[in-house]
Amino acid sequence: MDLSQVTSDDAKKTTSNIVVFPVGSTEQHGPHAPLSTDLLLAKSVAEEGISQFKGEVIFAPPLPFGISEEHRNFPGTLWLSTQTFRNCMTDVLNSFIHNGWNKIIIVNGHGGNIDSLNEVCADITRNAIKPAFATTFTWFNYSNDLPMGHAGEVETSMLLYLFPNMVNSNMISRVNADSGDIWGPLEQGAKMKYDVDEFTKNGVIGNPSLASRDFGEKLLKESGKSLAKLIEIVSKLEVS
Ligand SMILES: [Zn+2]
Repeated sequence: MDLSQVTSDDAKKTTSNIVVFPVGSTEQHGPHAPLSTDLLLAKSVAEEGISQFKGEVIFAPPLPFGISEEHRNFPGTLWLSTQTFRNCMTDVLNSFIHNGWNKIIIVNGHGGNIDSLNEVCADITRNAIKPAFATTFTWFNYSNDLPMGHAGEVETSMLLYLFPNMVNSNMISRVNADSGDIWGPLEQGAKMKYDVDEFTKNGVIGNPSLASRDFGEKLLKESGKSLAKLIEIVSKLEVS
């Protein structure tokens, strides 16, 4: 049941207590990919996972903002402070629980959200207004082997498969000269740079010219399968 498409009476009748809630960001994704990349991909993986799961779930409207201040020097980037993001997530999750939907899976599309989402999910699971369980599925972490980067091969492949009209293909071949290789330099394991423009000129980490539609299809199907498995596992949890 897609909450954005039904009436309150419909929502009352659902027999499911599992919510799937996509969370993205609005932030630069290089000169070739849209600001909405993380939102579009989180939503698409959530839809794919739901379609592969044999049972009903509640699909919540996606949150388009995340913890993206590190991209602030690239125009168009919008963000919530860490504190506001955590409060926002806690309020939305508590409203699911008030409705009686006490098994919550956040489908996340943005690396910068991960730490806060894990903390919010732990806090909700321990201290919510009624017994509940919450967890975060960051779609590109379904495998440890992806050359993730930022607006690189992985995200660009997904976009080429799902939203080809939103990719500026002419820019892809010109991207590499100004791209970075790693996400922020460390000294003795300690972070030394906080803003993305300090380690990549064009906002890209990785190599989007390696992207393909076929790889995008594989990524969507595999991450969707992984999410469907997680929904199955969460559906069987005893929450009390
Ligand atoms: Zn992204």
